[in-house]
Amino acid sequence: MKQAIPFALDRDRSFFESLDDWIGDVLYDELTEKGFDLRDEQVFMAFQIGQALKEKSVLFAEAGVGTGKTIAYLLPAVAYARYTGRPAIIACADEALIDQLVKESGDIGKLERALGLTVDVRLAKSREQYLCLKRLDEASKESDAARGIDDSLPGFVHGHSSMMKLEPYGDRSTFPDVSDDDWDLVNYHPLWQCSSCDLRNRCGQTLHRAHYREAADLIICSQDFYMEHLWTKESRVRQEQLPLLPEPSVVVFDEGHLLEYAAQKAFTYRVQERTLDTVLSRIMVDGVREKTLVLMEQLIDCHASLFRGLHDHAEGEGDRRKIVRTPQISADAEEAVRLAVDILEELVFDADLYVIPDYDLKIAEEYLEQYIHSMKLFNEGGEAVDWLENENGDETLVIMPRLVTDMLGELLFTGRVPVIFSSATMSVGGDFSYLADSLGIGDGFKSFSVDSPFDYEEVMEIRIEKPADKSAELLRSMEDGRQTLILFRSKAAMNEFRQKAGGDSRFLFEGDRALSALVRDFQQGKAQALCSWHLWEGLDIPGEALTRVAIYDLPYPPDDPLFEAKHRFAEDPHRDIDLPYMLLRLRQGIGRLIRTSGDRGEILLLLGEKEQSEEGEILSVLPVRPATV
Ligand code: SF4
Repeated sequence: MKQAIPFALDRDRSFFESLDDWIGDVLYDELTEKGFDLRDEQVFMAFQIGQALKEKSVLFAEAGVGTGKTIAYLLPAVAYARYTGRPAIIACADEALIDQLVKESGDIGKLERALGLTVDVRLAKSREQYLCLKRLDEASKESDAARGIDDSLPGFVHGHSSMMKLEPYGDRSTFPDVSDDDWDLVNYHPLWQCSSCDLRNRCGQTLHRAHYREAADLIICSQDFYMEHLWTKESRVRQEQLPLLPEPSVVVFDEGHLLEYAAQKAFTYRVQERTLDTVLSRIMVDGVREKTLVLMEQLIDCHASLFRGLHDHAEGEGDRRKIVRTPQISADAEEAVRLAVDILEELVFDADLYVIPDYDLKIAEEYLEQYIHSMKLFNEGGEAVDWLENENGDETLVIMPRLVTDMLGELLFTGRVPVIFSSATMSVGGDFSYLADSLGIGDGFKSFSVDSPFDYEEVMEIRIEKPADKSAELLRSMEDGRQTLILFRSKAAMNEFRQKAGGDSRFLFEGDRALSALVRDFQQGKAQALCSWHLWEGLDIPGEALTRVAIYDLPYPPDDPLFEAKHRFAEDPHRDIDLPYMLLRLRQGIGRLIRTSGDRGEILLLLGEKEQSEEGEILSVLPVRPATV
């Protein structure tokens, strides 16, 4: 439903002039009267965004913690959405940030209450965040958790009450007690062909999509999902499907410095060890011609041999293992492409026999096409980076482009839609070229940088400890009862601490339940500490609910083939890649502590022996001088 622009338009003034007036009135008068802090940095940012909308430009808006960046972009975005009749898309770095933004006490709710506005905001989460009825059906045969989910679904899903209105359901956050591992068995998976699914009309994902498409003001999604939308838009239109998201009036990337990672993730191809076997087995039915069957068996054998080779020659201990190519791996990969092409050709004749169920045939054809494309990229090597990962016990070959610049230039920075990047950390000393180059923007952007309005000297203490045993020091520090966010570089580091902490119920650990549920429990004081390797950014918990951020280890990039590839192309990998990455993430982590002008707290930084060599660099980015160095 079209909403009225929140200010009167004047015949003698342009929309953008009136927008500036309104922003000034709201930020200087209306919100301050309602108890909001007046921050010049916020007013400046909102005006700059208004200007970027007018010019349809790319804007890097760097503003320190406490500026009130969200309100600064929400005001012009809502007004512009209503003016153009198209929703503004706010793309957050991850799903946790989405929940932060839309929760009752979040900035959208605050603005609505303060201004008497009703903002039509709808969520468009990544497809993995929704239940897949097909997978749920299969998983329910073996899993109690899946059966529990199934029992909780609305009646219309199983056709019990056909007169019931179909409401969106099946969002990950509505199953807070389901573990990540159980969720991975029942959520959307790209292998299942939604376009030819018979449950499509009752599927929660479809219902959510229909719901958010109608948003008049804002669609909030993750950056991953926005990138998936860009990446699939053309092919969906070719197949006469709607793109995942509607055409926006403006795109705002919240925590915009993370967009490169989201783009790389979206433009990535994944080949799982077991999937080929699963897909082909479904179509090896009675009546399929002998020639096709033989080719399929040959491909399954060849694929198994390829994965044996990959497994035997993968190096490294982390999540992403480096592939050392052997002649046998290359030969298997090339043979797999040849066989997959032949099968696709033969399936055309088998389709005419009508012995393979349509849905299974469609899955197989789509899968083989993607398989061929992925394996060709793998065979070519070049600019793509590949590695081996384990996904729920399944070996996965991942192929990712090292650079995403060309694709972003073609799909995002077209000059038709303004693009706003908002973050506290995007520049290196006010210079945005590192980020602009990594996104392929060149010099076609506007930018500004404003400091945080908080008096950190007054409200923040920093304690640096150099213990022989970090876990013991952390457990000792927790005895003072402070509500603490503990940040780890990786899941492995978190698990190492978890072992030392035993089953201590004071600690919540990321991965045990939905992250939003853990954050909520922590914020409500149900546990003293929240342990996470993801919440370096975006977490917004003001007041007494969070009075210490403990940094267990420095957030260097993971030891994985992607960063190894970046290292290969850098002059000085440590200085050019690892150090800026770590310092930026460290600043983000520290930024979790002071969220409002009334907050006070401590940063506890635990430095191991090796990390101490970086102390000079660390000190240079800390907002206050540590009490103990
Ligand atoms: S439409 Fe897609 S996600 Fe929904 S049930 Fe069907 S296959 Fe699963």
